Amino acid sequence: MTKTCHLFEHILTHYRGLFATLVLLPVSVMYSVYTSARNLIAFHLRSAPVKHEQRVQKVIQQIENWKKDGSVEKLCTARSGWKTMSELVPKYKLSHRNIDVSLYDILEISEQNGTVKVEPLATMGQITRNLISKGWTLAVVPELDDLTVGGLIMGFGIESSSHKYGLFQFICASFDLVSADGKLVHCSPSENADLFYQIPWSHGTLGFLVAAELKIIPAKKFVRVHYQSVYSLDDMVEDFEEASRKTEENDFVEGLVYSRDSAVIMRGNFTDEIGGDGTYNAIGRWYKPWFYKHVETYLNNRRAGVEYIPLRDYYHRHTRSYFWTMEEIIPFGNHPVFRALLGWALPPRIELLKYTETETTRKLREKYHVVQDMLMPISYLKQSIQYFDDHFNLYPLWLSPMAIFDNDSHLGFVHPLPKKDGTVDKMYVDIGAYGTPLKAGFDNGSALPLLEKFVIDHRGYQALYAKTTLSRASFRTMFDHTDYDKLREQLPFCKQAFDEVYDKVSSKGRVSPVEMRKLENNSKPGNQ
Ligand SMILES: Cc1cc2nc3c(=O)[nH]c(=O)nc-3n(C[C@H](O)[C@H](O)[C@H](O)COP(=O)(O)OP(=O)(O)OC[C@H]3O[C@@H](n4cnc5c(N)ncnc54)[C@H](O)[C@@H]3O)c2cc1C
Repeated sequence: MTKTCHLFEHILTHYRGLFATLVLLPVSVMYSVYTSARNLIAFHLRSAPVKHEQRVQKVIQQIENWKKDGSVEKLCTARSGWKTMSELVPKYKLSHRNIDVSLYDILEISEQNGTVKVEPLATMGQITRNLISKGWTLAVVPELDDLTVGGLIMGFGIESSSHKYGLFQFICASFDLVSADGKLVHCSPSENADLFYQIPWSHGTLGFLVAAELKIIPAKKFVRVHYQSVYSLDDMVEDFEEASRKTEENDFVEGLVYSRDSAVIMRGNFTDEIGGDGTYNAIGRWYKPWFYKHVETYLNNRRAGVEYIPLRDYYHRHTRSYFWTMEEIIPFGNHPVFRALLGWALPPRIELLKYTETETTRKLREKYHVVQDMLMPISYLKQSIQYFDDHFNLYPLWLSPMAIFDNDSHLGFVHPLPKKDGTVDKMYVDIGAYGTPLKAGFDNGSALPLLEKFVIDHRGYQALYAKTTLSRASFRTMFDHTDYDKLREQLPFCKQAFDEVYDKVSSKGRVSPVEMRKLENNSKPGNQ
């Protein structure tokens, strides 16, 4: 038995690409077929809005039961921790009472109000497919098909239109929440505003989200993408910042940084026509090269260019290659033969990748592998790229500009912070670092705390799906807890029911997949 386990571990560690191709891809395909069929049935055959009320009542009933039982344990959603996009797994799912909030549907599209009402487990892929077929789209569509509305609101969300519309939270018009005392609360900028502004980033520590109204805008068939190669750090920063600040002119802005001095800056616009200044490119087709590899050809050929990309292909352009992390999982995945034969099956599902982590790959990941998004004021972009180059030497880096708006008098967890010179600027940039740094002697153990300090010193924020080494005090320095603390005091049963955000996202609340597997095995009946 032990020999078999060792052999399996050996295969998972040393033949990961082959294992992912032969096992994880087919399983992922089957699972995706199942979820698509389930969504189809839920939306087309059942009357989703009517069932919504019943589903919300079920959530409320579970809270009532918890109160009847003495409100002893803390609460969390029952969704499997393996399904979250984070590379870590929440361990509090084992100790807390799990509340089933399985609400997956698109409830109502209101063209008149310019909103779509959805349940929290509706995914980006599901929503864009539905809206685009009706001529609409979300103002901000975070990249991966499987990202959930609940996760993007309770965590964070961005995309290349965020310079215009802000983080995902800023396209939200209202939330329905089931509170810790079992009440259904509707909140918006004009109703229960304290709660409305505090929900984003709160990670389910104020209540259970059961519906959200999101702002929609008219969709067009294509995005006209203009690629501009740049060959110095100053040009990169100047061009990117200029494009980001032109919110009327550019519907989308994105940068891919390939070295300290070279990048491709992309400006995108909605359009229904394919103009004569560029070529049509359905980049989402299975046999097409991975997007960042395609973009790199502009850099290598020292040229600019224009392409017309179908809208959904554009929204999910990094999905097949999980940005550029797929290269480390299936190194031959971008080979033309692989793409032609199996490109349609990519990417393998995140939960399967996590579940098949071994002790060896865990150690390697923890020491050498980086998945981080840092939200920096755009005026510190140059220093930030220099910092990543000096301390990580990890490319490509993803640049996605975003506005962080003020919430009037409501602070929220994040808001534009005064810079060292006292000025306040709402324009930020997400710097995404994914992969294995090439910096000699790199070790996450020392690099991550230093990076987090750099981010705090430069008035930035860290995306909380990623690993954090912040102490509670530093976490409270990075994220404003003023209104959050007050609200948690005021809301009945709130502190009894929910952890603080820090307790959920730090190492107190999340562990490696390997450790989680052990904890789950130990908690099985008969193993205690
Ligand atoms: C490979 C990868 C690519 C990514 N790409 C992008 C990207 O392109 N754009 C982007 O913006 N982000 C991206 N992210 C980050 C992503 O936005 C965050 O992980 C986000 O939190 C959504 O993740 P999720 O759907 O897995 O939510 P989860 O991790 O499941 O949820 C986040 C938190 O919200 C809580 N929560 C969720 N639903 C509810 C509910 N109904 N009630 C109460 N609490 C709830 C959960 O308990 C959890 O604490 C990426 C992450 C990875 C790993």
